[in-house]
Parts: sequence; C-alpha cells; structure tokens
Amino acid sequence: MSLRVGLLGGTFDPPHLGHLVVAECARVELDLDEVRLLVAGEPWMKGAAPTPAADRFAMVCAAVDQDPYLLVDERELHREGPTYTADTLADLHAGEPDTDWFFLLGEDAAAGLQDWQRVEEAFALATFVVVTRPGDDAPAADDLPGEVVHLEVPQLEVSSTQLRERYARGLATRYLVPDAVDRCIRERRLYGAGPRR
Ligand code: ATP
Repeated sequence: MSLRVGLLGGTFDPPHLGHLVVAECARVELDLDEVRLLVAGEPWMKGAAPTPAADRFAMVCAAVDQDPYLLVDERELHREGPTYTADTLADLHAGEPDTDWFFLLGEDAAAGLQDWQRVEEAFALATFVVVTRPGDDAPAADDLPGEVVHLEVPQLEVSSTQLRERYARGLATRYLVPDAVDRCIRERRLYGAGPRR
C-alpha cells in the first residue's frame, strides 16, 4: 500500500501551536502516515526577509522533536533563488513515486493559490487540503485552480506575526508555542526575546 504523506509548507517564523494542530488534525482525519513540515527558504515573497534559515530550521526541529509522526523537510532551504511548490512536489514525487501527497494550507494561504507559479503542475502532483483559519474564509471554488479537500480544525487565533510581536514586547508566549520552541527562541535571542520569566 502506498504511503500517505501530508506536507505543511511555511516560513515557520516561528512555528506555533496553530501549525501543529493543523498537522495533527490532518494526520488523524485524513488518515495520513506522517506530516512533513516544509521550511521555506530565503528570499521570501512576503516582502520582509524572514529570520535566517538556520534559526527557523532549529525551531521547527524543536517543535516536532517529541512527535514521531511529524518530520522536517529542509529541501527548500538548499535551493537557490525563489522556490515554487510545483518544483518541490516534482522533487518529492521523483524521490518517492509511490507516495500519495497531501498539501495542507490555511484559508489565508489558499486565497493566493491562483497566483502561484505553475499551480496546475502542483495540483497534478498532490491533493490540496484547505484548512479553516480564524479571520479567513475558504476561497470560493471558482477562485481556486482546481478541486480541493476542505478540513475543519479547532480554531486557534495564533500567528507567527502575532508571536514575533509578543516576544518583542515581552508579553506571554507560553502555551502558544511548544516549550522547546520557546527555549530555542530565548536562547538565540530571536525577535528581541528576553529570558523566560
Ligand atoms: P505569518 O503571521 O508570518 O504570516 P503564519 O502564522 O501564517 O505566519 P506560516 O508559516 O506562514 O505561519 O504558515 C504556514 C501554513 O500554516 C500556512 O498554510 C498557514 O495558512 C497555516 N497556518 C498558520 N497558522 C494557522 C492557524 N492558526 N490555523 C490554521 N492554519 C494556520
């Protein structure tokens, strides 16, 4: 039987409980064997440069360390220039041709799908799964480049942007990021974080 693998692409700047809940719900509810967190490389299309790849990679490793079903995929960190999901999926497919791929993304990310480079190629290589996210609605079927699966998950109003700000301002972050990620952020003094109080 072929392996069913979920992929959650992101900047993970930093990874948080919202990401882990998406991965875990997809694993259980879509009957996946594992979920791999695909860490986006630099430069980044969002505009502002993200935290260096080495720090984001370390944080994602810390986030999944205790979970045998969650893995980290760093291939996009080693690619020069902009990364397109179509290329990443082609690469994964070439390496594991018998695996069924499920590409997970929140409603905010799904709203931009039509602008993706070579999105038809990506849709041909994976089942796209649109996951509910607070503050966003699922794009209408007409605004999507193909068929998707919709997955409802418990709504956690947490984002990396909000967490970067909370660290910078010295606000509480416990229970919003895994403890190991929090330690990693404070040790590396990311986002202007001070020692834990
Ligand atoms: P930022 O605030 O910097 O935009 P983010 O919190 O959206 O970051 P990303 O690394 O960009 O984090 O997200 C990776 C993927 O996880 C995206 O598909 C995004 O939609 C999804 N995601 C992130 N947070 C949540 C959440 N709380 N609920 C559901 N999906 C989420």
